[in-house]
Amino acid sequence: MPSNDSADVSREEIIARSLTGRCPNCGCFGLFKSWFKLNKTCRDCGMSLEKEESGFYFGTTSIGYVVSIIVVLIPICLLVVNKALSVWTGVALAILGSVLLTMLIYPLMLSWIIMSYYVLFPNQLPRNGSTKPNDAQSE
Ligand SMILES: [Zn+2]
Repeated sequence: MPSNDSADVSREEIIARSLTGRCPNCGCFGLFKSWFKLNKTCRDCGMSLEKEESGFYFGTTSIGYVVSIIVVLIPICLLVVNKALSVWTGVALAILGSVLLTMLIYPLMLSWIIMSYYVLFPNQLPRNGSTKPNDAQSE
């Protein structure tokens, strides 16, 4: 469905930029104020990142769970089942590992949430004309 011919930023670009923690709109590293906080707007292009107040931060928790289950919990369970670790060492490592991992990849998760939003709604990006009124019939 080629509905967005005026789009400057393709879905592929949004994905490629966000996977590396960059702004989906301009591709610069202007999103983050600190490790755990987004800027109110992108430092480089001024795109508003306010949506995170409601949705973006919330989503990171669920991604965090999924990632730590795959990366931390499953390998540790396998080690415990194979008697390479005692159960309590496994539990301790699992808790420590998932907390550390979640903190480590937190900024990436934030930008992945932003990515999933703009991949679904690419026309909401400023570069793709979200601030302009619809001028499609000016042909
Ligand atoms: Zn930007």
